[in-house]
Amino acid sequence: MIEKSIALFNRAQHSIPGGVNSPVRAFKSVGGTPIFMKSAKGAYLFDADGNRYIDYINSWGPMILGHAYEPVVKAIQDYAQYSTSFGAPTELEIEMAELIISMVPNVDLIRMVSSGTEACMSAIRLARGYTGRNKIIKFEGCYHGHADSFLVKAGSGVATFNIQTVPGVTAGVANDTLTCAYNDLDAVKQLVTEHHNEIAAIIIEPVAGNMGCILPHEGFLEGLRSICDQQGIVFIMDEVMTGFRLAPGGAQERLKVKADLVTYGKVIGGGMPVGAFGGKREIMQHISPLGNVYQAGTLSGNPLAMIAGYMMLKTLKENPAIYKQLDESTNYLRKGLNDVLKASGTAYVINQLGSMISIHFSEHPIVNFSSAAAANNELFKKFFHAMLKRGVYLPPSAFETWFLCSALTKEDLDVTIQKAKESLQEIL
Ligand code: PMP
Repeated sequence: MIEKSIALFNRAQHSIPGGVNSPVRAFKSVGGTPIFMKSAKGAYLFDADGNRYIDYINSWGPMILGHAYEPVVKAIQDYAQYSTSFGAPTELEIEMAELIISMVPNVDLIRMVSSGTEACMSAIRLARGYTGRNKIIKFEGCYHGHADSFLVKAGSGVATFNIQTVPGVTAGVANDTLTCAYNDLDAVKQLVTEHHNEIAAIIIEPVAGNMGCILPHEGFLEGLRSICDQQGIVFIMDEVMTGFRLAPGGAQERLKVKADLVTYGKVIGGGMPVGAFGGKREIMQHISPLGNVYQAGTLSGNPLAMIAGYMMLKTLKENPAIYKQLDESTNYLRKGLNDVLKASGTAYVINQLGSMISIHFSEHPIVNFSSAAAANNELFKKFFHAMLKRGVYLPPSAFETWFLCSALTKEDLDVTIQKAKESLQEIL
């Protein structure tokens, strides 16, 4: 029963475009009514009708410790009495910057912003300002937010809705974004040769999460690193999903590849609207007011976002066992899903690293956007609805990753595997 969600969705259509404030939430591509949430605790979501769901979206990544993690909630409540925004610097911002720098490799200076989009957009501007070059390389199916430069062959909702050219992005901007297939180092080399001394930055999701979960082939990130070194290109790792999730130091630590600039998003705010970009001092010192690359934000470093993020990141720093637990839970889920998928006889691929995992219904390995797009995504839609009906909340698209949180119990994982078995029996 989702009557209240249906009523809310109908009502929302009158005041909000498509009834939602971010497109993928609308369930447009999978069909049906988006579920309106009322509360969440640990690994569970509770909707407006009182249904409970085991959550594998976790606010698209940030809820590594589960929803309504008490130290985070309490810190927000306690701090709110001082102010919700000063528009002036606070000690909290220094503590947050120092904490992040102590956890992640290769970051000398870090600037807070209010979203992942802003972080990536600002990192690109900085790379352009620093190198004096205009073009960037991004990878098909990677999503770096909705800034104009990134809406070229983008993943996530842009892929889900199959939008080829985004109206409103000028040809001039789009022409400065060059694209290659993920995992295709030769294609990158060719672009770099064709556009010698024109490329300011290569930006990548070090583990892609916006076309389902796709892992970098061995040597791919290392290859990009050395191309950037040889050509004076700024290597930007977009760790909006992977940061603090794959390891305390994110993909840079887990995969042992260095970035020049790194971007973070929602994860560092414990669910509050926040993002950040940082990296080598030599590059970061070009940001205003140290340098002339202008970048600003009234709510940047917002105290409630800082205190929430600080409490979460501190917990992660002080409890490395959380990462072991997340990996073990995800490995257990992967094995269970593998068993039921194998028994079902359908073709499938499970991609996973750490607590990022996704299923594609495909006979072929999923290594880039075209292989993800060629999978049986109609079957995924049916699977999504069959799971939702059974109380398991998956991302409503095969072009998204599932995220696990540390609040999941073995019983939750067993229930999920059992529901997957029942769902496959229903849809196949
Ligand atoms: N980069 C990546 C890798 C993302 O997954 C996202 C959003 N899912 C963004 C950037 C943009 O972040 P935001 O939606 O906070 O602007």
